[in-house]
Amino acid sequence: MSVKRRDFLKIAGCAGMALLGVSDARARTKEPDPEFSAMLIDTTLCEGCRSCEEACNEKNSLPDPATPFDEGSVYDRKRDTSIGAYTVINRFPNPRDPGSPIYVRRQCMHCNQPACASACLVKGLEKTRQGPVIYNKERCMGCRYCMISCPFDIPKFEYDSPSPFIKKCTFCYDRQRQGKIPACAEACPTEATLFGTRRELVEVARKRIYRNPGKYVPHIYGEHEVGGTGWLYLSAIPFDQIGFRTDLGVRPYPELTSGFLYGVPLVFVLWPSMLLALNHFSRKKGERGDEGKD
Ligand code: SF4
Ligand code: SF4
Ligand code: SF4
Repeated sequence: MSVKRRDFLKIAGCAGMALLGVSDARARTKEPDPEFSAMLIDTTLCEGCRSCEEACNEKNSLPDPATPFDEGSVYDRKRDTSIGAYTVINRFPNPRDPGSPIYVRRQCMHCNQPACASACLVKGLEKTRQGPVIYNKERCMGCRYCMISCPFDIPKFEYDSPSPFIKKCTFCYDRQRQGKIPACAEACPTEATLFGTRRELVEVARKRIYRNPGKYVPHIYGEHEVGGTGWLYLSAIPFDQIGFRTDLGVRPYPELTSGFLYGVPLVFVLWPSMLLALNHFSRKKGERGDEGKD
């Protein structure tokens, strides 16, 4: 099958539009954007009970972890999120109070201007008007640009699956649209995970720091990092001591990566489209191959 020059330019144009993040639909809409929803994680309140992990697994029908949720030995090693765990808690020593270790949640930060969505040429990842950065598996072509571009190393790929997809925290977007709060926030017994609008939660965080200057370092992680994130953190000790990158700067990551992307020859821009076709072809083939099993 040959591709006519006009069609070729159309595809290239679409890829360019996706690259620039231009959306006809958004350009036409006049509705005011709602305030971004957000989470405030106060690490001084987290007890490491893992109720949030358990609620997340249940909500997303993820498998039981290798180490049960009530097993403390899980904290003997640092963990990362995975295709089977969209949020994990890690334990860090507390130099200010050695008897009270610090527990820190890790999951997608739902960046205000997400590098993952910017890098995705087919809108497989998308920043919603409400704040969550969501994944559309129907559009994903498996190129994994989102994994490379994420400054927090969050998107994970189902390498072992014959029909692989990207997995990460969804910010319980479906629950939010039903007027419910995310499952992990609902399950947290200590209010270490607070859900609200980003504007409100920045205010709450500022007040906590102002009223308890001895308790917190005077910094809200995520207020400005990489242009701001939807998940905000408070800490009693500097953030680099509890596993956070503090070298990311405050410029949105899409701004930093756009120069690189514009410098990429067109063949590399179109390469993902070819991968998409191959990916869909292999998925269909895999599905056909699975027919009749069981
Ligand atoms: S943390 Fe990574 S995956 Fe999550 S929104 Fe930001 S860039 Fe995307
Ligand atoms: S917001 Fe939802 S998907 Fe994300 S960590 Fe919490 S429970 Fe899991
Ligand atoms: S449920 Fe709350 S207190 Fe328990 S581990 Fe999660 S954030 Fe910490």
